[in-house]
Amino acid sequence: MSAFTNAMRQLDLAASAMHLDAYTLERLRHPQRTVEVDFPVKMDDGSTKLFHGYRVQWNDARGPFKGGLRFHPQTDLDEVKALSFWMSIKCAVANIPFGGGKGGVTVNPKELSKTELENLTRSFTRAIADVIGPEKDVPAPDVNTTPQIMDWLADEYGKYVGKPSLAVVTGKTLDHGGSEGRGTATGQGAYYVFEAYREKLELDPETSTIAVQGFGNAGQEIARLFHHHGYKVVAVSDSQGGIHDENGIDIPELIRLKKETGHVARIGDARDITNEELLKVECGVLVPSALENAIDADIAHEVKARMVLEVANGPTTPEADMILAKRGITVVPDVLANSGGVTTSFLEWQQNMTDEHWTEDEVFTRLKPIMDDASAAVMRAADAHAVTQREAAFIVGLERIDKALKG
Ligand code: NAD
Repeated sequence: MSAFTNAMRQLDLAASAMHLDAYTLERLRHPQRTVEVDFPVKMDDGSTKLFHGYRVQWNDARGPFKGGLRFHPQTDLDEVKALSFWMSIKCAVANIPFGGGKGGVTVNPKELSKTELENLTRSFTRAIADVIGPEKDVPAPDVNTTPQIMDWLADEYGKYVGKPSLAVVTGKTLDHGGSEGRGTATGQGAYYVFEAYREKLELDPETSTIAVQGFGNAGQEIARLFHHHGYKVVAVSDSQGGIHDENGIDIPELIRLKKETGHVARIGDARDITNEELLKVECGVLVPSALENAIDADIAHEVKARMVLEVANGPTTPEADMILAKRGITVVPDVLANSGGVTTSFLEWQQNMTDEHWTEDEVFTRLKPIMDDASAAVMRAADAHAVTQREAAFIVGLERIDKALKG
């Protein structure tokens, strides 16, 4: 099942539980605008290659479109549409004044030199320049897109409009208008959300272990935070496979090794496991932090965690959701769990718009109450409607978008 089909099934479930207005439902089944571009990139060997990219603008009823850019060989329109729709819900759940959008380029950036990657980013920026802007549509990093790539985008857009325009994109480097804390914000936000659910589920460091799938920007930070707060992280994986140690993995050392070798390497007494085995390990909290559809129906029957904390976007299929719910496993949904990233993007955008620069402390002091309020609103809606945490998050987001659409 495609990510977009899954997203629409999630929308339908929540819409029917809350009796969503028919127009709002129809409006939210379609993007407001889909931009597809073929753009040229100068390669190091002197040749020019065409690449295909997308920017899907789902809904801006609550504010400018907002969402990341993904550079990945499997990125296609279906995936970008799903991610763009989820961004609309996510920004509404976090209650920040943004709508939802997402973009991407079908490319394996690992096969490009740094110059080619810069050429690709700048050419893609020119191709979408007329539909983005600080008060129109504000991109950000996602899978395989870095702060350096965001700097190139801001610089190229500035040339296009003839003046510096830092607020056109978030997730930039600190030297180029980025926010303190943005690099680790998705993990930090997910940890705040986890804390909000922790008591409800009676999970504590003595009795709970953690498994993290995906060891990139988001996965490394959430693993580091769990480790820092005294939890045993017993399994970690990346695209090349994983490791398992029931006595706990030294996460800071693994992060250092990953930086050195480029992948999750075996350390201490850990043994190798496959990505599928990782999802089935004995643990308290399973944290998918890689790509969509990681937990399907077959895997869902074998998940042993009490909580699934969705740091990745769309890691659980609707069938898997139903199975996990029946088995009493709480899924804290992506649109809440990973919303610390976009919320800190909003804080970066605010700093750029007002020409301010806040300390990391100030940033996280603003982030925490937003995450706490969002978590509380979702838990309240789950109780009030007797639905799963995902349906509840959708209900919270949809109510807010519906209100904005009706002006
Ligand atoms: P990233 O590119 O930094 O890391 C992705 C990681 O996933 C890498 O370690 C990669 O090796 C691993 N991976 C890929 N396929 C895998 C597989 N089959 N099994 C196990 N690991 C696999 O990307 P990221 O920014 O950390 O994003 C990860 C997820 O979090 C995505 O779903 C993204 O949309 C979501 N997310 C990220 C942010 C953010 O601020 N970075 C914000 C919100 C949501």
